Amino acid sequence: MDDQTVVIKLKSRFFEYLSQHYQSSTFDIVDNLIDIIKQELCVSHAVFYFYDEQNDRLTPHKDVTINSLRSLPKEVQDQKFYQIQNEVILPIIQGDRIFGLVSVKDLDVANYTVSGQDEIVKACTSFYTTGMRNIKSTHKELKFEQLYRITEKFHSFMNRDDVLIELINTLRGMYASYTFYLFLSHDNEANNDLPIKNLGYDEQQGNEMAMKAYVTGDAQVSELNDSKLTILYTPLKGKQGVYGVLQVVASQDHELPENRSFITLLAHTAGNALENAQLYEQSKRLIKDLQLINETSHRLNKNLRLTDNMTYMTTRIVESFDANEAGFFYFDKNDEINIFPGSTKLFESDDVTTYVQYVKEKIGQDLEGIFIGDLSAHIQDAKFQSLMAVPMIQSGSLKGCALVLHESKYHFTFDMYKLLQSLIHHSALALTNSLLREELEMLVNLDHLTQLYSRKYMNECIEKSMKVDRQGTYLLMDIDDFKKINDTYGHQIGDKILVQVANIIKNNIREKDIGARWGGEELAIYLPQVELKIGKAIAERIVNRVRENTDPMVTISCGVSYWDATSHHISYNQLFSQADQALYQAKNNGKNHVVVEL
Ligand code: GH3
Ligand code: MG
Ligand code: MG
Repeated sequence: MDDQTVVIKLKSRFFEYLSQHYQSSTFDIVDNLIDIIKQELCVSHAVFYFYDEQNDRLTPHKDVTINSLRSLPKEVQDQKFYQIQNEVILPIIQGDRIFGLVSVKDLDVANYTVSGQDEIVKACTSFYTTGMRNIKSTHKELKFEQLYRITEKFHSFMNRDDVLIELINTLRGMYASYTFYLFLSHDNEANNDLPIKNLGYDEQQGNEMAMKAYVTGDAQVSELNDSKLTILYTPLKGKQGVYGVLQVVASQDHELPENRSFITLLAHTAGNALENAQLYEQSKRLIKDLQLINETSHRLNKNLRLTDNMTYMTTRIVESFDANEAGFFYFDKNDEINIFPGSTKLFESDDVTTYVQYVKEKIGQDLEGIFIGDLSAHIQDAKFQSLMAVPMIQSGSLKGCALVLHESKYHFTFDMYKLLQSLIHHSALALTNSLLREELEMLVNLDHLTQLYSRKYMNECIEKSMKVDRQGTYLLMDIDDFKKINDTYGHQIGDKILVQVANIIKNNIREKDIGARWGGEELAIYLPQVELKIGKAIAERIVNRVRENTDPMVTISCGVSYWDATSHHISYNQLFSQADQALYQAKNNGKNHVVVEL
């Protein structure tokens, strides 16, 4: 067989393989090259060596122990067969680029003409380079298929973490030898499935470069020569901003520049998907916020009762902000703290004072709200660490303040604070309206001279208490010999004494007790849920205080009556007439003391 026939057969085998098979890897190409050479050149042994141009080194494709070649014989530069002892070298060479060589044993070089050798070398080289080109383009195709698939997937995600997890998993699948990290800004919640590094905080290596990529939106590369590492920083960029930086760590790999453009493309796709997810989350939150504001103002405008409105507001705030405590307060003319009804438990205790005082100082003159994530820096031993406070302002003046607390640090986000602001802003009018109405009602219910409740209001309260409570004590009082006082000092002094007695009453009863001006110089107190013994003690205390603390000195007499739901179940009229009788007895028995009538 002459060498031309061998060349033709070799070429047709190569052609057949390239056109009919799918080239999946370099190994696949090399294995086939060796097989075809062995068959067509009729040799028993053939080995392929890859040539590393940079380090001038040969690496055999499969383990070869005997007579392994280590470096390239100089003569190989020629596109001819080259013989060393019983081995013949077929260079895989194109122009001045050497890809590798095939070493065969027991080939009779004498059977081949120079032009035949030349053609065989060319055919082998062309087989190798075409095969490699095919692999590259199928890889490219695969990559773009992958990109298409991942893009579609990305855009179906509504959640940031899902996008990031998919990005990292895809990259790890495609580039197993690289390590990937994500630099994210600190407001990202930790997700253990992701290799997250904090942007801008830690002193770890690479942070500066990552920051640069984040700020400029341009990819950065750093080469660490001592560890032979190349590190890429690719921003995850959307249309409106940069959402993080992808860090790729590769130990020196000549394919990195090529892969880099694909990784950048993936990072951009992820950036856009992150932006979409973020916009979606934002719009969802905005809708929820608007719903809350809308529902609340609607509800507040419908219902004018202060207690109901405040209770509703407090409940919604606790629910929407996942707060531990929430309440409303204001400072009265005497600068004393007044808690609005409906506030949570803390606001009933003295523990709230620290927080309220702090808010008062901070809000001060400029009437700005407060947003604090770590109260320990401001209040010692604070139980609550997160605080939001928003002033209620109506027609330019401070009507009150909303205070929201949580035990954990940084529990509330700034978005929550902004929401609380708009919530209070939208509710302030309705709340102050119901406050005004309540104040007006109070005005009607109060006696002008003594600022005690009116008889009518007290009657309503007693009737209500007799329906819902288990017991109550009623005290009816009358100033002794008041006519004489008036005659001696005049009516004006008489009025002043009446006010003094009223103040003694107010100072000796609880907030839920009702002190009233029954008429003229007769005063009454109703003590809901108070048993007779205690009620009597209170009456005696007041009788003593009046004697001791009025000027000019007056005394009072007091009749006490009592009801309970079981053993002494009497009507309101009976309750009153028993007290009246007791008072009558007190007057007849020397005045200035207490009598009980059951
Ligand atoms: P006692 O109750 O101890 O039997 O003698 P008293 O002098 O208080 O007698 P009585 O209760 O009958 O008289 C009430 C007097 O109180 C009549 C009136 O001059 C005076 N009084 C009633 N309302 C007022 C008031 O608003 N201001 C003043 N200054 N005096 C009043
Ligand atoms: Mg009197
Ligand atoms: Mg009287």
